[in-house]
Order: sequence, then structure tokens, then C-alpha cells
Amino acid sequence: MRLSQYFMPTLRENPTEAQIVSHRLMLRAGMVRQASAGIYSWLPLGFRVLKKIEQIVREEQDRAGAQEMLMPTIQAADLWVESGRYDDYGKEMLRIKDRQDREMLYGPTNEELITDIFRNNIKSYKDLPKNLYHIQWKFRDEIRPRFGVMRGREFLMKDNYSFDLDDEAGRRSYNAMFVAYLRTFARMGLKPIPMAADTGPIGGDLSHEFIVLAETGESEVFYHKDFETFDALIENAGQDDLQSVVDHWTGLYAATDEKHDPAGCPVAAADLKSRRGIEVGHIFYFGDKYSKPLGAAVQGPDGEAVTVQMGSYGIGVSRLVGAIIEASHDEAGIIWPESVAPFKVGLLNLRVDDAACANACDDLYDKLSAAGIEVLYDDRDERAGAKFSTMDLIGLPWQTAIGPRGVKSGIVEVKNRATGERLELSPDDVLTRLAG
Ligand code: ATP
Ligand code: MG
Repeated sequence: MRLSQYFMPTLRENPTEAQIVSHRLMLRAGMVRQASAGIYSWLPLGFRVLKKIEQIVREEQDRAGAQEMLMPTIQAADLWVESGRYDDYGKEMLRIKDRQDREMLYGPTNEELITDIFRNNIKSYKDLPKNLYHIQWKFRDEIRPRFGVMRGREFLMKDNYSFDLDDEAGRRSYNAMFVAYLRTFARMGLKPIPMAADTGPIGGDLSHEFIVLAETGESEVFYHKDFETFDALIENAGQDDLQSVVDHWTGLYAATDEKHDPAGCPVAAADLKSRRGIEVGHIFYFGDKYSKPLGAAVQGPDGEAVTVQMGSYGIGVSRLVGAIIEASHDEAGIIWPESVAPFKVGLLNLRVDDAACANACDDLYDKLSAAGIEVLYDDRDERAGAKFSTMDLIGLPWQTAIGPRGVKSGIVEVKNRATGERLELSPDDVLTRLAG
């Protein structure tokens, strides 16, 4: 992509409405614009990141055996009346009337709708287990939308729902998601800590929040210091070792401030860390809380009706864009982990009025693109200093620059955004270095 043609409205000044660094940087890098309080338009650069995050979430759901579908954003109120949550949900729910005066709502979550689909279509134990997910916009009319996309009113969530015949199988599904979540966040360069959580309005008796540490996190969290040495990119999580992985991760103390009890905390003060954190995912096992009132049952092996055991699992896909920036930035701007970067490489033409320089850049751009590498090519008529600052701001993992001096000696300057390491390479070496 040529920057001269790309829609990326960067800002030089810090926008005054943004209180935290990720919000400031997302506005300054031209990733999002606010449409109204807590509701954002995703501009091309931000949208690319959102899609990359979504794709990692999707791959890990698929790997864990969940199946993707898509439910609508607008739901009929009836099902919520049936489950008893229509009144409970209160003002967070955006209620809408259609032209027939029917009560509708913009879904804040989907337990009711998926359970309805299940009960109408799945009748036998032979069809279990089932684990279904979608990645869809949600609306919650938060009292205080703030921090940009981190606490929006409209936000993108991956949510899925597991259906099992009995409690043991239900807990296996929960474990599979627990491990999938660790992998998902690790692949985005994050260090997640699962914490025993209150189940709130979703209900149930088993629940974990996945927290990533950041100074601006909304909740205070407490955890055993050994968590910092754990590797969340769990390679082999077959059914057999799922439980041992989960036991390993839940064996150490970790709790949000809601649950933490200083008097009853089993960890010695020297081993206990207290930091702030951002909730990026939340999983629940709630057994028959929805399946019972909604009558989601299958015919069991002996012909008797069996109410299914359910869990639900959410990841804040749009919140993650902000959370990753909170976890990975410096004074100059964003530092994207390669897995979610909008482009892998920035290419800077340091002298656009120099024909040889432009040719060398065009040539490298073509070669990198042909090798399947995503490149943002700064071919604008701007000062070199401004180009480097823009690249630092938008945080692409690699910067490659060619100026008149480099053209003469056949050299490309390469900078690694995260480490600051600089190399001087021939165009061919740039290609081998950045491919793959
Ligand atoms: P929170 O405690 O942050 O309000 P929640 O517990 O109400 O979130 P869940 O129902 O567990 O949220 O939703 C699953 C995930 O969706 C959360 O872990 C979070 O990452 C994301 N999420 C929830 N509310 C918002 C929001 N207002 N804006 C952006 N993402 C959100
Ligand atoms: Mg939650």
C-alpha cells in the first residue's frame, strides 16, 4: 500500500479527549474515529488490526473444536422474558421497538438466542457435544463509556456456547476454552493471567477472567509472582492433558480486587504481586442455568430427557486492540507484535525528488509485495524526519529506508521497531530477512 493513497489521518497533537495512552495513540495513528459516545468507526489502519486479532481468535476457536456461525445483532425481547433476564439487564440493554410495536433489543450477549437455536434443532445426546461461536458486534449502554475502544458501548466480541450431556463433559469443554484462551492471548504477544471471578449476571459456579497487566487497567489484581514465568503458548493440549494444564494455571493464587481477601490470601507477602489489569476474556460454566428455563434438553441414551450443561465464553476483540497497545508502546508510539501488526514492514523513501532513490524504493516495494509481505510504502513528499516519526507512531515491526546515500552503496537501512536495532542490508538480504 502506498501511503500517498492510503486513508490514514494521523494527528500530530495529543487529542485532549483521550485519557489513556492506547486511546491517544489510536486517534493519533488514524486507526479510529468516534462516531458518538462509546461508538467508533474503524478506519483502514485500525480495521486491519481488528481483523488480525479476530483471525487469531477464530483460529484458536477452530483448533479447540468450536464451530463458527453468525447470529444477528438485533434480537426479539421474548426470549429474554422467557429466561428472566429481560428485566434484570436494566439500562445497559438498548431496547428498540419495531413498526409493529414489537419489543426488540440490540444484543448485549447471546445465551438466550443460541439456546433457542439449540432446543429447536438438537434433539439427541448423539449430537453432543456442541460448541458454537460467533464474532459479532454487541451493544451495552455503559454508564461511563471511556478509554476509547476499551470500554465502548458498541464493541466486537467473540462469544461461544458449549452444550454437553453431563457435568463432566461440560467441564471438559470449559477446560478446552481455558487453554484456547491462553493460546489466543499469547499469540498476540500478551501475558494473560486467569483469575477466579464472580459470575455476575451470567450466573453459574465456575468462572475465570483473563487479565493482561497494564498500568491503566480498570481493576486491581493480585497474583503469585511465578505467573510471570508461565508460558501461555501451550503446544499440546489434547483431551488428556487439558486438566493438568488447567490445574497448573489455577494452582497458583490470582484474584481481582472483587475476590481478593488480604486476610485469607494464601500467598506470602513477598510472593504476592499487586498490579492493575485489563479483562480481555471471561469464561463461565453455568450448567443448566439457561437450558432449564428455556427447556434445552436432548433425549439421553436411555430415552429419558436430559437437560444440557452449558458454558459461555467471551473475548473482547475490539478491546484487545487497545489492550495490546497498553501493553506494547513507548514514547514515540505503538509497537505492534508482528502477529497483529497492520503491515509487517514500513518502507520509507527518504528523497522522493531523487529518481534513483524512487526507483530503488519502487523496486524493493514490488519485491516485498511479490513475496507476500505486507508493506506500507511512504512515498509521500515529506521530510525524512516526519516519515520516521509517522512510522514510529503507527508501530510497524520493521522499518526499511532508502535515501540517496544508500542508493549509491546499494544499502537499505533496516530498523526493528521493538528493539531499536539497526542493520544495513542489501535489498536481497532485506527480502530474505523479512520473508516468512
Ligand atoms: P467488564 O467487567 O469489563 O465490564 P464484562 O464482565 O461485563 O466486562 P463479559 O460479559 O465478560 O464482560 O464480556 C466478555 C468480554 O467482552 C470481556 O472480557 C471484555 O473483554 C469484553 N467487553 C465487555 N464489555 C466491553 C465494553 N464495554 N467495551 C469493550 N469490550 C467489552
Ligand atoms: Mg466479564
